Amino acid sequence: MPNGVGRWKETRPAWDFERQMCNLMDTKIVRLKEGDADEEALLQAGEILKAGGLVAFPTETVYGLGGDALNPDSSRKIYAAKGRPSDNPLIVHICRMEDLEKITTCVSEKARRLAARFWPGPLTMILPKRGIVPKETTGGLETVAVRMPSHPAAAKLIEYAGGFVAAPSANLSGRPSPTLAKYVIEDMDGRVDMILDGGQVGIGLESTIVDLTVDPPQILRPGYITGEMLESVLGEVEEDATLFSVPEGQAPRAPGMKYRHYAPKGDLAIVQGTEDEVVKYINSQTDQCRLAGEKTGVIAAAETAERYRADAVKSVGGREDEEAIARRLYGILREFDEENVTKIYSESFGEAAGDRKGLGQAIMNRLLKAAGHQVVRV
Ligand code: AMP
Ligand code: MG
Repeated sequence: MPNGVGRWKETRPAWDFERQMCNLMDTKIVRLKEGDADEEALLQAGEILKAGGLVAFPTETVYGLGGDALNPDSSRKIYAAKGRPSDNPLIVHICRMEDLEKITTCVSEKARRLAARFWPGPLTMILPKRGIVPKETTGGLETVAVRMPSHPAAAKLIEYAGGFVAAPSANLSGRPSPTLAKYVIEDMDGRVDMILDGGQVGIGLESTIVDLTVDPPQILRPGYITGEMLESVLGEVEEDATLFSVPEGQAPRAPGMKYRHYAPKGDLAIVQGTEDEVVKYINSQTDQCRLAGEKTGVIAAAETAERYRADAVKSVGGREDEEAIARRLYGILREFDEENVTKIYSESFGEAAGDRKGLGQAIMNRLLKAAGHQVVRV
C-alpha cells in the first residue's frame, strides 16, 4: 500500500472519513454577536456567497439557506444541499428598494404600495422576472418571488453578497423550517460553507407570499402579514383554494405547495371539537396507542396541556397568544423527532377559534401540511 494512503487512514477520525465518502464539506459555524450584526463574519459570509458558495443565516421569519440568486450554479447547489426538487422555485432576497426593478420587469402600483407598507419585513411578492434572474433560481418560471427581510444581519449579508440572495428555508426538504441554529446545524452541517447562528428567530413561520401577476392579487402562502393587513393596502385579495384543503384535480399555484412540507417523522393528526371532547378523544387514543407500543405526543395550548396523559405533552403557548404559538410550532415538531415520538395528536389553533384572517390562519396552514391534512372532528 502506498505510504500516503496508510498514513491518511491512521490519522483521520472516522467522521472525517464519512465526510469524504459522502462528499461533505467543512462547515464554518459562527455565532453572531448579540444585538447588532457581526461585521467581520458577515463580510466573510458575503464573500463566500459572491464566490458561489452557500451560507445559512437568520432572518425574522426562519433560517434561510443562501446562495447568489443571479448565479445558476449557486441555485443548483441550494437544491442539492436541501434535497429539494428543482421545480420548486426559490425566493430572492434583496436589501434596497431600487434593486426590485433590476430583477422584475413590471412593478405595478399595487406592488409599490405593498413594498412601501411592509418592506423590510415578512412579505414575499411574485412578479414577472427579468432575464438576469436564471431559470435555475425560479424553477423554470417566468416570474420571481422577491422579499426584503428586516433582520439586520440578513440585510447586511445581502448587501455584502452583491444584493441578490436566493434563500429557501435552511432545512432538508420535507423537514420543518429551522427556528434555531441547532436545527440548521442538524440538517446542513457538511452541506454548506458557513452557518451564521443568530439565536431564536422572531416570527417562526415563513413569509406571506402574494402573487401580483394576477388581479386581484392572490395569497399563495399565509404568514405574519395577514390577509386583513394586505386588504388594508390592496382592497380585494384572494386566497389560493389549496391553502386549507386539497381540492381534487386542482394544482396549487405556488409550486412548492404540492410537496409534503413541514412533516415530523411521527404520524400527526389534528383533532377539532369542543375542549372537553377533544381532550377526552386524544387521551383515549394515546392510551390505546401506548398499549400498541407507540410513543405518543400531544400539541396543546397552555390552558389544556395539563389535561393530557401522552408520553410527551408540548405546550405551544397560550391559546390567545398566536405570536408565541407561531414561534414555537416548528421547534415542537422537531422535538418530537428527537424524542422518537411515533403518534402525535394536536389541538386545532386559530381556525377553530374563528380566526379566518389573522396569524392563526398561517399557523393552521402549516399544521395541516405537517399533518398531511389528517383532521379528526369529534
Ligand atoms: P421556501 O423557500 O422554502 O420558503 O419556499 C418558497 C416558496 O415560494 C415555495 O413554496 C415556492 O413554490 C414559492 N415560490 C417561489 N417563487 C415562486 C413563483 N415564481 N411563483 C409562485 N410561487 C413561488
Ligand atoms: Mg421551506
